[in-house]
Amino acid sequence: MSDSDMSVSESEAHFKPFFWEDIRRELDGLPGGKGLNIAHEAVDRHGKGERGDRCAIRWMKEGDEVVEMSCKALMEETNRFANVLKNLGVKKGGRVYVQSERVPELYVSALGALKYGAVFCPLFPAYGPDPVSSRIQKGGDGILVTSEKLYKSRIEPNRERLTCLKKILLTDAATDIGDDALSFSQAMDRAASRFEIPPTNPEDMALLHFTSGTTGPAKAAVHVHEAVLVHYATGKHVFDFRPDDVFWCTADPGWVTGTIYGIVSPLVCGVVDIVDTQDFDPARWLSILESQKVTVWYTAPTAIRRFMRLAPDFFRKYDLSHMRLIFSVGEPLGADAVAWSQKTLGLAIRDTWWQTETGGVMIANLPSSEVKAGFMGKPIPGIRAAIVRKTGEGGVEVVAEPGEEGELALRKGWPSMFREYLGEPERYEKCFAGDWYLSGDLALRDPDGFFRYVGRDDDIIKTAGHMVGPFEVESVLNEHAAVAESAVVGRPDPMIGQVVKAFVCLHAGRGPDDDLRFELVGYARKRLGTAAAPREIEFIDELPKNNAGKILRKLLKERETAGVSRD
Ligand code: AMP
Repeated sequence: MSDSDMSVSESEAHFKPFFWEDIRRELDGLPGGKGLNIAHEAVDRHGKGERGDRCAIRWMKEGDEVVEMSCKALMEETNRFANVLKNLGVKKGGRVYVQSERVPELYVSALGALKYGAVFCPLFPAYGPDPVSSRIQKGGDGILVTSEKLYKSRIEPNRERLTCLKKILLTDAATDIGDDALSFSQAMDRAASRFEIPPTNPEDMALLHFTSGTTGPAKAAVHVHEAVLVHYATGKHVFDFRPDDVFWCTADPGWVTGTIYGIVSPLVCGVVDIVDTQDFDPARWLSILESQKVTVWYTAPTAIRRFMRLAPDFFRKYDLSHMRLIFSVGEPLGADAVAWSQKTLGLAIRDTWWQTETGGVMIANLPSSEVKAGFMGKPIPGIRAAIVRKTGEGGVEVVAEPGEEGELALRKGWPSMFREYLGEPERYEKCFAGDWYLSGDLALRDPDGFFRYVGRDDDIIKTAGHMVGPFEVESVLNEHAAVAESAVVGRPDPMIGQVVKAFVCLHAGRGPDDDLRFELVGYARKRLGTAAAPREIEFIDELPKNNAGKILRKLLKERETAGVSRD
């Protein structure tokens, strides 16, 4: 697709003409015309320049301890990590899996891996041994950065099978604890602080993000260095980053939002990046917003709904006057939440929409226009979005009438579009029809061009903003000796969006009782981790199936949505 073709959608007359080439010119590129590397744009060009002594990342540790790293220090630390990879013999394109608490080592590993030409593959810390090992096996050869605690509970149970893990670096081990489990700090001490980023083709693989599917195991979405154009452009146009901004994205880097907007985009744009190392706590979060003078805040509806439960007085003690923009992503943001924030925080929350596959924000309530409550916003500059419906011949047509529901589609070819699902070309191809990428989300467009979320077109569950694939959960449940078969769906929940609920058919002779229910919940948690394990289990005599014997999760979901329970 040509650049002029990528100019902003015909329906988006309020945008000036937009060309990705202009965005590219605003970035550095590797010195000597050696290509484009995300880590150069995020780290070295600030570390080497006038901004070297400025804070790059500031971590909020336990209590009110604060640790920060300047742009120059981040450059040196990431250089060291790139040299660690070299010393370990990691090949270009090798994987650097990171399953870690939000400690500095995570951020240094992510950016150091990108510098080296390795591929950063984040794994959510609340994933148990099963999702972790299936993802690493799919991802291929590489090393893992993790903590001793996570290593023992997530990796050791399957270590023998994980032959593709060549070395493990432990962020909290003072010394090596075996031939292949090494101390991160010792490895860093042995590595030099100078490193020259090798030539990087913008199409070189940079990031591997795992995302749940409905019908099979998790997919590995591949992103390339070219995606930095979107990381930068969205920082500029969506988050309106200005040189003195302090930005806090509350998402964990185990999810795509936490990688792109919790690490890359703010650094590329040269704003201070705040990281909280601790779990959600409303008083703590408000203290961070106040003490750090956060100017731009990116969070999620689950957190906002928790805030909404608190009395308005709770917020009066905090001075949030420096905050100028609040954004949300990941789940529907109700108009009530927007009205609440306007009243309580003095700012209307701006919803944004994107996915693992899109690599960056695609639709947003941009700061340049009024917030439309209950709507995700409009396509950002450079992106064309439409509501489409399937035609008989496997194609799609754009829905002409505003207000009509259909699938949300994006005109393919933007820089951060995923390039493949690793090793699964058929699954990838199914995401496209002609020129359109099909998101799997149902939505509608109003007469003013704003998009409204309607729901998912498949069985994927969104719980507390996180994707859970029913197949992955069912596969684990079905391995329990008492379980004949199971079906997993999302039960609507006012606080976390959906609760993971399993319908379970037992083998003859196993009574459906509470002991077994607890046993199953514990068993699933141990294998899947808290991020994906079902919170509720309902025993059922028979699962609904079609004539071909396929389980009809939709019927169970509809039943849950209607609030009917037979248990
Ligand atoms: P993930 O790939 O894990 O980032 O999840 C992407 C999915 O989250 C989308 O396909 C949507 O179903 C959902 N999502 C993201 N943003 C929004 C939003 N603003 N409103 C409603 N759902 C959203």
